Amino acid sequence: MKHSRSPRDLWASLLPAAGGVLALAVAWRVPALTKGPMPAWLLVTLLVCGIAAACHRPAVGIATLGLGTLILPAAFRLSGAAPAAAMAAGLLLAVELALRIVHRLAALQPAERRGFLPRSLESAGRAVLSTLAAGGTWLGLAGRWSPEPALAAAGAIYLLLWTGLEIADRKIRRPEAPIQVRKILVPLSLDAGGWIAGGVVLLAGDRAGWPLAAFLTACFAGLAVEATRHGLLHRKAQDRARDLERLRRASRRMTTPLEEMASIADRIHTECERVLESDKSPLFWFQFEALAPGSEFKSWWWGPDSEVLEEGVPEPDRYPPKLPGFHRRTQWQILERLLRARPDATVLARIRLWCDPRRLDPKRIELLDGLLPQMTASVQRCLLDREAREDPLTGVAMRRVLERRLHEVHARCCETGAAMAVLLCDLDHFKRINDTWGHPAGDAALVAVAGVLKGMRRAEDLCCRYGGEEFVLLMDATNGEDGLAVAERLRQAIEALDFQVEGQRVPLTLSAGVASFPDLYIKTGAELILFADEALYEAKRRGRNRCLLDVGQGRYMDVEGNILTTEEAAPTAEAPRIFV
Ligand code: GH3
Ligand code: MG
Ligand code: MG
Repeated sequence: MKHSRSPRDLWASLLPAAGGVLALAVAWRVPALTKGPMPAWLLVTLLVCGIAAACHRPAVGIATLGLGTLILPAAFRLSGAAPAAAMAAGLLLAVELALRIVHRLAALQPAERRGFLPRSLESAGRAVLSTLAAGGTWLGLAGRWSPEPALAAAGAIYLLLWTGLEIADRKIRRPEAPIQVRKILVPLSLDAGGWIAGGVVLLAGDRAGWPLAAFLTACFAGLAVEATRHGLLHRKAQDRARDLERLRRASRRMTTPLEEMASIADRIHTECERVLESDKSPLFWFQFEALAPGSEFKSWWWGPDSEVLEEGVPEPDRYPPKLPGFHRRTQWQILERLLRARPDATVLARIRLWCDPRRLDPKRIELLDGLLPQMTASVQRCLLDREAREDPLTGVAMRRVLERRLHEVHARCCETGAAMAVLLCDLDHFKRINDTWGHPAGDAALVAVAGVLKGMRRAEDLCCRYGGEEFVLLMDATNGEDGLAVAERLRQAIEALDFQVEGQRVPLTLSAGVASFPDLYIKTGAELILFADEALYEAKRRGRNRCLLDVGQGRYMDVEGNILTTEEAAPTAEAPRIFV
């Protein structure tokens, strides 16, 4: 996040200002430009026309065709160099202010990334330089193409200096961009047009009187105002097109499906930063809260010093706003938006942005609002995806996810020869818990067991609710014996689980059947579940609270490594269970 303005911009603007001072020094020495009083009405006309004309500068991208080139030579001619310089400064200040007002009224994005001071300095420098050149043109025209040597030299200096300054300015501001000759020549040729126009007006003033000169100047100003109007409309259309394109791109990025809500929050943060970035990003703190009904509340945030999105609630008020510029003491502007799902307007999430109010452009807020439907769709898709994948009670995967994954893992194992194991477990006498303590207690038991399963599995294992109180653990790159060891650890963990209902401990146990590939020959991954189910059935038959591995042909292996067959054992009497 950029917090402060680059000092390079200021230096780039100082260069033309330095050029202006140099030009003024040359002009001071030219007697032809320092004579005659100037009537007040002419001064006012020139000032008004100058302001109006100079306003068109950013609108049509023309740098110095503004009437500065007309007005300042006239001022030199009529009132002398020093008043003309003061007038230039006042004029340009007024122009900068007028531009600000025009931009605010027209709700345009800032024309330049630079602030008031650098822009004024640059404008002042440019105007003085071009004034001198226009004065030279006028003297050339008036003297039938025999300009004074000092002014001819000044004109040449102007051309050389200005070309150099343009190149330096561009290089300083955007060092990586190649210099485009066209972009240098266009302002220079416009300047030349301005000089000639200025020269013509001055000549008309000398030959036919100043009222005619003022009239011509007003005509130029009228043209300039018209150009400004068209320019503003053009820029507005351009801004709109740019915003729409930005919105389109952001929407496209938003449509890429993401599985995790945290990733969605991260992407929304990135898009907010992108959308709000005007001259500098005004976004300081960001918070995303997941509020979808039924899912757990979660919040992520991003602060000025964050490297990644953090989970939790931000505390912007504990940190004073660190804002660039002189007016450091300011309040955050907090933008809050709810992401509501259609058609019933259920609140899915809330985003909050703590912004620097001085740099928050209302148009950017509009753009951000334009992106809200995409953000909502993105959150909604993630929730629907999760709904389709996750069991709502326990939060583990649903059976359909297991079926897909079994197929994938089996296909991969067939190709690579790696092993896979499936663990199917079933809580013992679960019905009794329901009957004794009620279904809510049964539900709580399921949640507790799922919690143990989720905690014990590796990141790559899939844990799934297979049926009512049956869970499956699909273990990649695991052989049968390792799978059996996992099952035994799980059995012990469940046996040791301190599950309480109404302050009383309710003992929980489970039985598990394990089957693995390629120890067992299977054609599809789903067949492995059938083998595991046989082992589970055998474990139940042998008295529950135990784990068996199916080793094929009706034989099973217990955790001690004993091979058992179906025939050899009669159903075992169960250990007495106490449900108080
Ligand atoms: P066994 O040791 O033979 O597995 O005995 P059991 O009682 O666990 O076996 P059974 O499969 O007959 O009972 C499963 C019970 O689980 C039946 C059903 O009421 C209950 N059940 C299934 N799904 C849920 C659920 O989501 N919540 C609750 N509370 N109970 C459920
Ligand atoms: Mg059961
Ligand atoms: Mg069951």
